[in-house]
Amino acid sequence: MYKEELMEEVAAEIIACRKCPLWKKRKKPVPGEGNINANVMFIGEAPGYWEDVNGKPFVGSAGEILDEMLSEIGLSRNKVYIANILKCRPPENRDPSASEIKACVPYLNQQIRIVKPKIIVTLGRHSTSYILSECGLEAEGITRLHGRKYVVELLGFKVLLIPMYHPAAALYNPKYRSGLERDFRLLSQELERLGCL
Ligand code: URA
Ligand code: SF4
Repeated sequence: MYKEELMEEVAAEIIACRKCPLWKKRKKPVPGEGNINANVMFIGEAPGYWEDVNGKPFVGSAGEILDEMLSEIGLSRNKVYIANILKCRPPENRDPSASEIKACVPYLNQQIRIVKPKIIVTLGRHSTSYILSECGLEAEGITRLHGRKYVVELLGFKVLLIPMYHPAAALYNPKYRSGLERDFRLLSQELERLGCL
């Protein structure tokens, strides 16, 4: 089957999903979107208010920051793939629970296998610690991990992991904004080094 069909199948499963209680209050599930042949895949946490309304990832204020960061290094949404750990919005944007993550991550794993990116950027501590645990590694704090690259084996293939702060953190704190800008420059260098730009 072609990648497009596989991804559509995953999206259809998500739309019908009732594996955790979050389906009850969602307006729209947010499977993810972007280029299924992307070299870089971004993994956020969960849909917020506007994502839940639109069914698309990162379309609220955190999404504006993400778009700015992408354009600063000459990337755009149609060149990358963007997904979240949870596909449905937690009430009041609370943190994802361990059981919700466990129920939902098979979808993300399928998406990672389909896109098979060279680089995975985790946005924030939840997605970073999930990806690290999937690689059999222990999660340290995001403050210590961000801004560096890690060669990891994820779901049976080698990928470069670049953990970053969540863009929402940069909305409120300029320190995180400059940290995020630095991390995007690292991403740009790595894409160039891998011949992906
Ligand atoms: N925050 C996230 O982690 N993901 C989104 O899609 C939007 C905001
Ligand atoms: Fe299913 Fe994930 Fe939505 Fe829970 S968050 S209902 S596991 S798609």
